[in-house]
Amino acid sequence: MMSSSTKPAWCSKLPRPQYSLLEHVSIPSQTWFEVYRLRPNVFAIYEPYHWEETISYLVIGSEHSLLIDTGMGIGNIQQVINSLVPSSTSLKVINTHTHHDHIGDNWRFSGSLLGVHSEFAEHNAKGSFEEAQNELKPGMIWEKYLPKDFNPKTYRIHPFQIDHYVQEGDRITLGHNHELEVISTPGHAPDSISLLDEKQRLLFVGDTFYQGPILLYRPETNLQDYLISLEKLAKLILKFDLILPGHNIPNVQPELLEKAAIEMRNIMLGKSKSTKTDDGNYDEYSYEEFSFVIDPSFLST
Ligand SMILES: [Zn+2]
Repeated sequence: MMSSSTKPAWCSKLPRPQYSLLEHVSIPSQTWFEVYRLRPNVFAIYEPYHWEETISYLVIGSEHSLLIDTGMGIGNIQQVINSLVPSSTSLKVINTHTHHDHIGDNWRFSGSLLGVHSEFAEHNAKGSFEEAQNELKPGMIWEKYLPKDFNPKTYRIHPFQIDHYVQEGDRITLGHNHELEVISTPGHAPDSISLLDEKQRLLFVGDTFYQGPILLYRPETNLQDYLISLEKLAKLILKFDLILPGHNIPNVQPELLEKAAIEMRNIMLGKSKSTKTDDGNYDEYSYEEFSFVIDPSFLST
């Protein structure tokens, strides 16, 4: 079932004001992605025309480039990468976690895929039809921007295979003096990682933190792990100037991570007030810049 061709209601908030601070990079012959430059060699590859507003990132090094997440697989992210990456560097690809909205184009990068060794990731690497199809419900997409060759009937997450495993503390080298450190941050998903670019003072966090409703209700979510991960990242706050998350806004202030850690601890201590989500299933704890949407059974033990 496809959405209407008119602008969906959630789109009225776009473009989000934070994007006006960034340089827009035009990528010819595609309509789905909007690309923004965050640093001379760091790009946000944003999917604003789907309500998830997924963001993938590209870091270009002197020897290697790193693609962090591959998006929803609705548009062809490889085409975008090819127009940004100099032919002198080779590409590596990694996922912040293997939820379907971040692995959609993994299959296009066979041979270059780094990943975490976990049962959860192994399961997701088999691909899925249903999770992809659930993203096409009415009002979820602004159809006008869909790629011409997109076929909603066959849209699926294709299977992929990890070529090289990484773990906590590993450093992914991009060239002279430039590496990204792998930080294990399970919680939102069991295979969640963050990537610290100490040289450029950037922290890529996937869905561990973003501005908007942070979803903590899937069966694979572990709140205790999540709190530990937030506190772990908050302790590193002197090492980065910017948080680069997996949804909504690519330029988030480090202090918000400290705030998230403090508020998450308060929630787990039973000190915070929530409201029910519209469907009545979850508790939402709201703050100015973000909220936590939690399955209440996770807090009752
Ligand atoms: Zn996720």
